[in-house]
Amino acid sequence: MSKREYLLENGYKAYENDEIIVYWNPELCQHATECIRGNSQVFDVNRRPWINLSLAPAEEIGNIIEKCPSGALKYEYK
Ligand code: SF4
Repeated sequence: MSKREYLLENGYKAYENDEIIVYWNPELCQHATECIRGNSQVFDVNRRPWINLSLAPAEEIGNIIEKCPSGALKYEYK
């Protein structure tokens, strides 16, 4: 089973562009705001969808996700 299949079966939603897939699980999110502090353009809770991957380089997004304390955000590069 791929990482994508596993995460989608376990409550994660997927957001993707040509370079990166970002997964987010609302049940795990502790609203610690590390992601928003990292880049409030990419991660904006007042917008739907709240994650917009076109607003920063994939590597920057991956580095921000590394700081998510809950495991609610995960990613993989394509
Ligand atoms: S950093 Fe992780 S736990 Fe915090 S708000 Fe973002 S997704 Fe949720």
